[in-house]
Amino acid sequence: MWDRLLIDCNVATMEPRAGDPLGVMTNAAIGIQDGRIVRIGKRTELAGFRATEVVPLDGAWVTPGLIDCHTHLVFGGDRADEHAMRRAGASYEDIAKAGGGIASTVAKTRAASATDLISSARRRLHALMAGGVTTVEIKSGYGLDTANEMRLLNAAKALGKSEPVRVVGTLLALHALPPEFADRRDDYVKMVVDEMIPAIAKAGLATSVDAFCDTIAFTPHEVERLFRAASEHGLRVKLHAEQLSNQSGAGLAAQYRALSADHLEHLDEAGARAMAESGTVAVLLPGAFYALQETRKPPVQMLRDQSVRIAVATDCNPGTSPLLSPTLAMNLACTLFGLTPEEALAGMTINAALALGLEKDIGSIAPGKAADLAVWRLESLAELGYWIGLPGPERRIFAGLDA
Ligand SMILES: [Zn+2]
Repeated sequence: MWDRLLIDCNVATMEPRAGDPLGVMTNAAIGIQDGRIVRIGKRTELAGFRATEVVPLDGAWVTPGLIDCHTHLVFGGDRADEHAMRRAGASYEDIAKAGGGIASTVAKTRAASATDLISSARRRLHALMAGGVTTVEIKSGYGLDTANEMRLLNAAKALGKSEPVRVVGTLLALHALPPEFADRRDDYVKMVVDEMIPAIAKAGLATSVDAFCDTIAFTPHEVERLFRAASEHGLRVKLHAEQLSNQSGAGLAAQYRALSADHLEHLDEAGARAMAESGTVAVLLPGAFYALQETRKPPVQMLRDQSVRIAVATDCNPGTSPLLSPTLAMNLACTLFGLTPEEALAGMTINAALALGLEKDIGSIAPGKAADLAVWRLESLAELGYWIGLPGPERRIFAGLDA
C-alpha cells in the first residue's frame, strides 16, 4: 500500500529516450511512498497497485519540481537605487567603483539581524516556490568574514528547515573584497583559505565553494588558491566565470572538476571543451544578462556542439538579477539565449540537479528519487518557455506532499 498514487496525468520524466529529450509518458501514474517515487508507468501498468490516497490530475502535466541552482537569496536591504542609476547610464563597473554594487549589500547585510535576514529571504523564497521551485541553492557572499558568512549560511539552513523546500548552501567566499581588506587582497584570500573554508567545512554549512572570477572581482590565481583549499576540505567548487570578460575561468574550474561554471557570456572554445571533459555544467543566467542589458550572449551552440550540459537559474540577487520567477528564467533563456523550451526545462530540472551534485536524488521522475513534483495546467510543456510571467504550477508537491 503506497501513500499516494497520482493518476490521469502526462509526465515529463526528464529521463531522456532516443528522440524524446523529456522522456514523456502520457496517461501515466506515479506511485509515492515515504516521500519518494516508487513507481512511474502507464496508468494501466499501475492498475493493480493501491494507495491510501488516489489523486486524479485530470490530464495535467507533471514535471520534476523546479531546481534553482544559482541564487544569492539571503541579503540585507536591496539595490533599487542602483537600478535607477543604471537607467541613468551607469555601468556595473561604474557602480562598483563608486562603492555601490556588492559592497553596499555587504554593509547592509552585516548590519541586519539574523531574524531580518531570514524573514526578507523567506519572502523571496516563497515567490520562487510559488513558481514551482522545490530545491534552491543559496550562496553566501555578502558577509565576507567568517562569522557573517556563517550567519548567511545558517539563515539559508533555517529556511530549509522551516519551509517545504530543499536548500543547498554554497560558500561564495571570493565574491568581493571586503572594505577592511581594501589594500590587502592577499591577506583576504589567505584568511578565506586558512580560516573561513575550514570553519564552514567543519560546520557542514556548505557543499560547495564558489568565487567571482573577473576583472572587477578575483583573479584566476586567487581563485585557484580557493579551489585548492576547498578540495582539501572535501568541498566541491563552482565558479562565476566569463561573465564580463574572458579570464579562462571555466577552464580553471574544469581543472578542479567543478560542478558548474556559471554565466559564461565570454566563454571560448577551449573553456567549453574543458567543461565537457570534466562534466562541468554550464549554468546560464539570463536574468543578469537582461538586467545588465548585456549584448554578448553565452555561446549556446558551442555548448551543444561540445555536449556540455546546460542549466538555467534565476541568479536571484539584489544587484544584477532581481528575478523571482523560475518560469520567467526559462522564458528569458529561450528568448534571449535561444534555448529550446525542452532545453530550458532540462535546465531547471535534471541539469540543475547535476550542477548541485544531486542528480541521484532529484531532477527527474524515476523510482527512488524524491517525490518533488510540479503539476501544470497546460496544453503542452512548450508553454513553460513561452509565457512571459507564467504564475506557476497548479500544485507543488514536496517530498510527496502538497506544499
Ligand atoms: Zn551569482
